[in-house]
Amino acid sequence: VVVGSGFGGLFAVRALRRAPVDVTLLARTTQHLFQPLLYQVATGILSPGEVAPVTREVLQRQHNATVLLGDVVDVDLDRRTVVSQSLAGALVTPYDHLVVAAGSSQSYFGDEEFARLAPGLKSIDDALEVRGRIFGAFELAERVPVGALRDRLMTFVVVGAGPTGVEMAGQIAELAQRALPRQFRRIDTRRSRIVLVDAAHAVLPGMPSRLSGAAERRLRRLGVEVLLGAPVVSMDERSVTVVTGAGSRTIPAATKVWAAGVSASPLAALLADRAGASVDAAGRVAVEPDLSLPGHPEVFVVGDMAATGLPGVAQVAIQGGRYAAEQIDRSVRCLPGRRPFHYRDKGTLATVSRFSAVAWVGRLQVTGFVAWLLWLAVHLFYLIGFKNRVSTLMHWAVTFVGGSRAERAVTSQQVLGRVALQRLEERGLSVDGVENVESVDDPRDGRPAQPA
Ligand SMILES: Cc1cc2nc3c(=O)[nH]c(=O)nc-3n(C[C@H](O)[C@H](O)[C@H](O)COP(=O)(O)OP(=O)(O)OC[C@H]3O[C@@H](n4cnc5c(N)ncnc54)[C@H](O)[C@@H]3O)c2cc1C
Repeated sequence: VVVGSGFGGLFAVRALRRAPVDVTLLARTTQHLFQPLLYQVATGILSPGEVAPVTREVLQRQHNATVLLGDVVDVDLDRRTVVSQSLAGALVTPYDHLVVAAGSSQSYFGDEEFARLAPGLKSIDDALEVRGRIFGAFELAERVPVGALRDRLMTFVVVGAGPTGVEMAGQIAELAQRALPRQFRRIDTRRSRIVLVDAAHAVLPGMPSRLSGAAERRLRRLGVEVLLGAPVVSMDERSVTVVTGAGSRTIPAATKVWAAGVSASPLAALLADRAGASVDAAGRVAVEPDLSLPGHPEVFVVGDMAATGLPGVAQVAIQGGRYAAEQIDRSVRCLPGRRPFHYRDKGTLATVSRFSAVAWVGRLQVTGFVAWLLWLAVHLFYLIGFKNRVSTLMHWAVTFVGGSRAERAVTSQQVLGRVALQRLEERGLSVDGVENVESVDDPRDGRPAQPA
């Protein structure tokens, strides 16, 4: 049994295709999600399908694999069973070997209220929610007069200056500077304010200072305000407050995106509890050097939920999944011995904007266009499915060469950002009533516009 259809889970299942085993993949979504490109769904570059192919289709030719939708809620290590829940009820699935790759979720460091105000980027739902908030904010800004409310609608705060935050801030800036200006008549989207904040003192803190400095300079050239050493202390529908060396600072902003911190799936704590293992501060379960759960050589924990001392990146999950599959194959073939898991670091990449990225591969540190080409090639290579690669490449050509954003559809749930923007409108417009009462004349037919 393999739990999770992310990088660890899917690559483990695929690596078992020639092994003499029956594999059951249990996952709570029907797709394999390519998280590194979620920010492009959120900013209208890619469609959800391009970054989230259906797992069942990906595995259709792998006859030893069965895909089942379900939320894994329990694991009985003694009976060797996994309990999963779905609308069809509970299901108990027995296993001989188990690979758990349930990943991680956004961490708000205890401020769960922030989740409602500043969605993260962990799922397709998140990406569509953020997409709805960003484009919804521009739509609302177009219909309100010049003033504080318009400024607030045109201010975007991204919390967390790791790769996701940098990519997100860079793309919102490109939207405002390149993609949208000609489409709005009343607002000048180039006057949008994009603020990237982080408690750390550098962007891309895991990268060498030369690369992190290059990324920061590129962001500033795009017009992004980079506010470092500034932890977020509070937030509401209308603003974000950070603390800096000079005191606290409140940034009026309708749209907030959270890209700071992750915590492991609760399944890590459950397994730790059942096996008497420990969990670290990020909720990851301690594993043996062969990625097995202490005392349970038949159970492997891979990817973001395993405390291995390795970073929470796709390559760690992919290599961990493949490694676990190899050990299972050896075990069923009665081959002796297990070597410890050895991670091969293939480097780190982060893109800032079109034609600009930073790459750190071994001793090589590259910035600018060459790094961006490398980023492009690597992401295309790891996208699942030929069709997805071709359509992604076409969307990138449209966006990066032409400048337009083709994937901007939002549903009625998302168009105003379900919660935050609706409440901003209710509260903001009633509090700053003047802004709304002073209705804007429709320049085309001369009738006063309807109040929101
Ligand atoms: C926005 C973003 C950008 C990123 N960018 C990069 C990048 O540029 N480069 C990079 O290397 N890494 C990046 N990462 C990190 C990388 O995506 C993760 O390290 C990787 O996905 C971890 O793989 P995993 O298999 O452990 O978990 P995931 O890929 O998260 O997969 C977890 C799976 O488990 C399923 N699941 C969870 N709980 C349950 C349950 N109880 N029952 C059943 N199924 C369950 C989920 O539905 C999912 O299918 C990024 C992450 C994010 C969120």
